[in-house]
Amino acid sequence: MIDFNKLIDNHLAREYRAKTIGRYYPSEAGSCLRKTWFSYKNPKPNDVKLTRIFEAGNMLHEFISEVIKSEKNKEVELLRSELPIEIKTKDFIISGRIDNLVLVKICEKSECKQVLVEVKSTKFLPKEKKPEHKMQLQLYMRAIGVNDGIILYIQKDNLETRSFEIKHNKKVSDKIIERFQVLHQFLTENKLPEAEAKLDSEKNWMCDYCSYAEECAKE
Ligand code: SF4
Repeated sequence: MIDFNKLIDNHLAREYRAKTIGRYYPSEAGSCLRKTWFSYKNPKPNDVKLTRIFEAGNMLHEFISEVIKSEKNKEVELLRSELPIEIKTKDFIISGRIDNLVLVKICEKSECKQVLVEVKSTKFLPKEKKPEHKMQLQLYMRAIGVNDGIILYIQKDNLETRSFEIKHNKKVSDKIIERFQVLHQFLTENKLPEAEAKLDSEKNWMCDYCSYAEECAKE
């Protein structure tokens, strides 16, 4: 009998490319610093299970783009989707295309504004926005030059949503860029950062999905 799991994995298989120190990815903004460090120093091919989860998320992001584009939803207009992000500093560059990001025009009471929407597919809708998602969106708003953002959570099994509005805050996005500076320093000096996610109760969950858990424990 044909193995459909195998067909899916074949379809999703991507050529693996090692990362370069000095070129960082916006999606790393909220990750455990140590995990990101390992991903540069000890690169591993993408985990098959995680690749499938990301692909399922991408399908939902495309669905949200369709909802926004729909003729039936006249109060919102899709301006751009899958936006490229680029922030250059003197020491490094943060760049990448963000699949789950859409720029929309929202008109309410004859007033229109541009809003950056970050779509997050999830098993259960969170009561509050997650800190790592806030960090990512702050960075994206800064790169795109937009002041209004929405983190939109969509539940995978029933398409229920919960959204949180946030404003761009330069002090916060400065701090996120400083975080990349810290990562850059640890990498160039070949020093291992502390086990950030293990030490922070709000980030502990990241360790369950970390492909460097073994290396981290050894340290
Ligand atoms: S196991 Fe946890 S603390 Fe260690 S690198 Fe992974 S995410 Fe970070």
